[in-house]
Amino acid sequence: MAHADPAAANSDAGALQRIADALPEWAAAQGFNGLGITRIALDADAAHLRKWLDRAHHGSMDWMARHAALRSDPAALHPGTIRVVSVRMPYLPESIQQAEAALGDSSRAYISRYALGRDYHKLMRKRLKKLGAQIEQAIAEALPSLRADQRPFVDSGPVLEKALARDARLGWIGKHTLLLQRDQGSFFFLGELLTNLPLPETQAAPVRDLCGSCSACIDICPTGAIIGPQQLDARRCISYLTIEHDGPIPLELRADIGNRIFGCDDCQLVCPWNRHATPSREADFAPRHGLDTATLLELWAWDEATWLRNTEGMALRRAGWQGWRRNLAVALGNAPPLPEAVQALEAAKPDASDLVTEHIEWAITRLTQAC
Ligand code: SF4
Ligand code: SF4
Repeated sequence: MAHADPAAANSDAGALQRIADALPEWAAAQGFNGLGITRIALDADAAHLRKWLDRAHHGSMDWMARHAALRSDPAALHPGTIRVVSVRMPYLPESIQQAEAALGDSSRAYISRYALGRDYHKLMRKRLKKLGAQIEQAIAEALPSLRADQRPFVDSGPVLEKALARDARLGWIGKHTLLLQRDQGSFFFLGELLTNLPLPETQAAPVRDLCGSCSACIDICPTGAIIGPQQLDARRCISYLTIEHDGPIPLELRADIGNRIFGCDDCQLVCPWNRHATPSREADFAPRHGLDTATLLELWAWDEATWLRNTEGMALRRAGWQGWRRNLAVALGNAPPLPEAVQALEAAKPDASDLVTEHIEWAITRLTQAC
């Protein structure tokens, strides 16, 4: 791209600017509701990550520590990367009120709203690839001497996605550690296209942090996992405990998990900026198998074959069958003390693993003591 001829350099810069200007519209056609371009300057975020890891707040997510250096260096992840195109896709499949109704009924199962439909990874990666192909075609037409080399990521590699999205002017990082934006709230997925193209950065001013004196997310967290503004102890977070964590759920946290069987949205549901969140129009994110309204006993009745069939192509698979049963047992222990719940738990014991049996016994003890 280095030009001895200033006129040629200007025309290259003009072509790159025209492509950057067209990107938000191309992204919208792929279902993204925000796009920004950033350089890579993640030193402060890398230091924050190192401190978090040093305090062991990542729990058993060893891969976080293993790939820590890569996270803050996209060029090491994909050589030649000098810019990141960051995109946002809303996923809330239904209204906030519907989510709150499910959470507020302890006989019903609460599944994090992002996981009720099709797994977002494949869908977003495919859309990001299409966006990348469109950029490559535009480059080939406008600047044939330039060879685009790009790679999409959707939660699939060691990328500091929230920091990159913040730098791409897509929002600010809230006290709950998630990215949010005043008109869109925080119920969206993030994706990144790592690129070697010298695309001009998004010029808008940094998005102003509007958390102010609010601490609603910290106050409501059922397990006290948000230990300070932008500080999460994942070992206490229900999302970690019900999805990433393989072993027994710590006894002292089981009651606080309530009816949350896969993930947790409390810190997002309470956030005032999510009052404006509108449901996604993406058909793939619509709830499957009535999972948004199912009772705990209905889901407990699924055998492994049913679970495998019903969760095909869904993020729910990440918990694994044993994790799913463990989580359901805990939630049943926190449910209204109905005799049929105790019977259903007892009936499952002969076929249960040691891990699940221990959680079943905890649940039965809790239910019978409450009777
Ligand atoms: S997801 Fe739930 S448990 Fe985790 S920090 Fe948010 S409110 Fe707390
Ligand atoms: S609940 Fe309040 S403090 Fe937490 S992210 Fe939202 S605005 Fe910020």
